[in-house]
Amino acid sequence: MSNYSQHCPICARPVENNNSFPNYVCNACRDHATDAKGETVIFYHARFNGKGYQGYYRRHNELVPFTENICFINGVKCNAFDDYAGGVIIQPVKELATALKPEIKHAAVAQF
Ligand SMILES: [Zn+2]
Repeated sequence: MSNYSQHCPICARPVENNNSFPNYVCNACRDHATDAKGETVIFYHARFNGKGYQGYYRRHNELVPFTENICFINGVKCNAFDDYAGGVIIQPVKELATALKPEIKHAAVAQF
């Protein structure tokens, strides 16, 4: 059994399987997370706030807290999660991911 049967939903790169998060984005895409206005947001593992992670802006070499759990990667709305193993997981917001699928299917069919 392959450990890399999952794919990043943003760039389609193979990622390590994660049964809890079958649709999580790869590390490379995670580095491109931004807020709704396009400013880069970095998520770190954290235990102090009960969420398991904390987002930050990096401004002038200082980390400024980003209090939301929603970010955007390549225009895809994503949600941050605690992965329970000491890391941060980012996945597209579910409604959006499922809403996108029929479109992709339709586009593929339309080519023929
Ligand atoms: Zn990716």
